This record gives sequence, C-alpha cells and structure tokens, in this order.
Amino acid sequence: MNDSRYDVIIIGGGVVGLGVALEITRRFPHQRLLLLEKEDRVARHQSGHNSGVIHSGVYYKPGSLKAKLCVSGAAAMVEFCREHRIPHSVCGKVIVATREDELPRLEELRQRGEANGLAGLCIIGPEELREIEPHATGLRALVVPSTGTTDYAAVCQKYAELVNANGGTVLTSTAAKRIRRSPQEIVVESSKGAYTTAGLINCAGLHSDRIARLAGDDPGVMIVPFRGEYYDLLPERASLVRALIYPVPDPRFPFLGVHFTRRITGRVDAGPNAVLALAREGYGHTTINLRDLGSALAFPGLWHMARKHWRNALGEWHRSLSKGAFVRALQRLVPEVTESDLVPGGSGVRAQAVKPDGSLVDDFQFVPSGRMLHVLNVPSPAATASLMIGKAIVDLAATTLRLG
Ligand SMILES: Cc1cc2nc3c(=O)[nH]c(=O)nc-3n(C[C@H](O)[C@H](O)[C@H](O)COP(=O)(O)OP(=O)(O)OC[C@H]3O[C@@H](n4cnc5c(N)ncnc54)[C@H](O)[C@@H]3O)c2cc1C
Repeated sequence: MNDSRYDVIIIGGGVVGLGVALEITRRFPHQRLLLLEKEDRVARHQSGHNSGVIHSGVYYKPGSLKAKLCVSGAAAMVEFCREHRIPHSVCGKVIVATREDELPRLEELRQRGEANGLAGLCIIGPEELREIEPHATGLRALVVPSTGTTDYAAVCQKYAELVNANGGTVLTSTAAKRIRRSPQEIVVESSKGAYTTAGLINCAGLHSDRIARLAGDDPGVMIVPFRGEYYDLLPERASLVRALIYPVPDPRFPFLGVHFTRRITGRVDAGPNAVLALAREGYGHTTINLRDLGSALAFPGLWHMARKHWRNALGEWHRSLSKGAFVRALQRLVPEVTESDLVPGGSGVRAQAVKPDGSLVDDFQFVPSGRMLHVLNVPSPAATASLMIGKAIVDLAATTLRLG
C-alpha cells in the first residue's frame, strides 16, 4: 500500500484529536491512522494552555454531553494518570458564594451535581470553609470532593506515545492546507505533501470551522477566540490557597469566573478572565491577526453577541487592563490577597463556537458530513473528558466513517 494512503486522518494534535486517535488505535488496531498537527509538538494551543483542572461535572446541565462525558471522563482521567504515572491530585474544590443573590445558584449547583451523579457534595458555612481554605471567606460554599488537577500537556504526550506504539502515526509540523473529496476518497493536501484517506476527523480546535469550510461544509457557527489571562501568586504567598477556590459562575456564560488554582506543580495561579482575542492564537494583548479579525467582524453573530453581552465584556476588558480590578475580583474570595502578591502569568485562548444569532453553543458538538466528522465545539471540560469524548466520537465515526 502506498505510504500516503490511510483509512482515517485526524486533523489536530490537541487533547481531543489525540484522544480520538488513541481510541481508534485501541478499538480498530488494523486501521491505518494518521494525525496531522501543524505545530512542532502536540498540545501547543488550548490543550497546553489551560488550568489543568480535572473537572467533576458539577456545572453542566443534566443529560448534556458535557455532563455525561465530564463525569465519566474525570474518573477515566484519574485512572489514566495513575496508570501512566502522570502527576495528578484529587484535591477537591470549594465554590464560594460571597453575595446573598448567589446563594440560590449555589444550591442549584449542588442539585445539578447530584443529578449528574456526583458524590459527597455539601454546602458549608464560613467556619467550615476556613477549615478547608483558611484564607477564603464567603457566606456559604459548595464542597466538590472529586475535582482534581493534572498536567494536560503531559497527558497529550502520553496519548501521542500510545498512538504511535499502537501503530498510528502522529505527524507534527504538518499543516492541512486543502481538502478535496470525491465519493471514493478524501485527499488532504498538507505542507508536507498529499495524503489520501477514506475518512477524516476534524479536531482542529481554534480552526475547526475553517477546516470544515475547506472540506466544502458549512459549519453553521464561527469559532470566536476568548483569551484567558492568569496571574501567578508569588511563591511566598502561595500558602493563601490550599487547593481550588472558585466563585459562583454567572449562568449566562460558559466561563467560570476568575478563581485560584493550585497547579500540580504547586504553583498557585489566579484567573483566567475571558476577553475577546484579536487573533485565534493571540496570547498577548497586542497580538492581532487581520484575517482572524476581519472574518470575526464580518460575522453577524459577533455583533449580536456584543449587543447581548457588552456590559460583561467591558468588565472583562477592565479586569484585563487593570490589575487592581482583577485583584478586587479575587479579593471577594481571598481578602488578604494584594496586588503585590501577584505577577503576570501565562494565558490561553478558548475556542468558543458562536451561532449567527449571537448565542454561544453550550454543549459539545460533533457534526458528521459523509465520510467526515467535524468536532466544532469542545470547550472546557473537554480536556477532562477527552478519553470519553474519544469514545463518543469513535462510536459516531464507526458508522458514519465505516471504521472497522
Ligand atoms: C484558558 C483555558 C483554561 C482551560 N481550563 C480547562 C481545565 O482546567 N480543564 C479542562 O478540562 N479544560 C480546560 N480548558 C479547555 C480545554 O483545554 C480544551 O477544551 C481542549 O484543550 C480542547 O482540545 P482540542 O484538541 O479541541 O484543541 P487544541 O488543543 O487547540 O488542539 C487543536 C490542534 O489543532 C491544530 N491545528 C489547527 N489547524 C490545523 C491544521 N490546518 N493542520 C494541522 N493541525 C491544525 C492546532 O495546532 C492545535 O494543536 C481550558 C481552556 C483554556 C483555553
């Protein structure tokens, strides 16, 4: 067989593409699989720039893909890390209500978590909160024992290693540029030559809508990039936070609000906020990509979204440009934290699918099209859920792409 001919090609070497690749090589070991990643290593974008939290599933609407795949995915992720000796910790977290109007939402979260099958959830008062997090204050807090942390870049490395060991091929520094399809086959023209395949799975994250268009499909959404910026607590002040301290999220948004995270390395960071990025891979304030900006401005959904959420967006920009405003949001959770305790940390860019009417796609979205499958919305908790997302996508692909 020609070396450029495959049974299935996956575009994107993030935690989702690699999770799918791992599942295919495990379930269908005889399939010739190629994964294309444009960067020189895997996990170069969202999967290597996140908070490293193994989410429990407390936030998501019961019955949604997010709820189902996160709860089972968190258990699978802990087991995977244990099996492959990837540093991880099931440290638990607290979600803290600091205003009266947040108390009913805290109770709703508890009920959601229980409906999603989480064990050990309980609402506590300020004294018990101080026993868990001595520097946190609030009116009440929800304790979520099954939340954990890990290093998703290390998880991705291990997925890639296993895919290669199972006979698949992970090719980095290879960007998919054009896609041609005929009833018999699909040809992916890349920066390193053309590859022919019977089936294609698009896991291109921040570029997944563009890959769908390259393949001649209308994704029906646009990927809007939201940058999340972090501050790091100085090491001598890291003792202000034992594990994970979160606010009660605003139910109108998919983002969780700035919070404290003790990383698996022991470093404590605060963030991320959520500001509209001026480039899909725009990790800094000043990074602008004219193509990304132009296509976003031409998309009616962006303007509808801006009209609906301008007040919140202004708040996020304010916190992005003013350290004082960022710190004030954090002081609601840990009043002792000061501006001088925090130094600028990293950032990440989230891929959020937005519909033409300006609404944000909430659940995971996998869209089959002939012998292709487009993964169009896999925001947080997709890293947590990646092993189960892999299984769900392969279940779908087994019939639509006729794997096996
Ligand atoms: C700031 C932030 C915090 C987060 N925190 C958490 C958390 O704590 N827990 C959690 O579970 N989730 C979290 N998430 C969400 C999680 O990181 C993402 O949902 C997940 O990483 C998405 O994975 P992906 O594989 O779809 O995307 P990506 O990791 O972005 O991978 C897509 C890949 O496709 C490649 N690609 C694109 N176009 C092409 C092309 N033409 N040819 C070849 N390759 C291409 C890109 O280079 C990229 O490597 C967070 C995300 C962010 C940004």
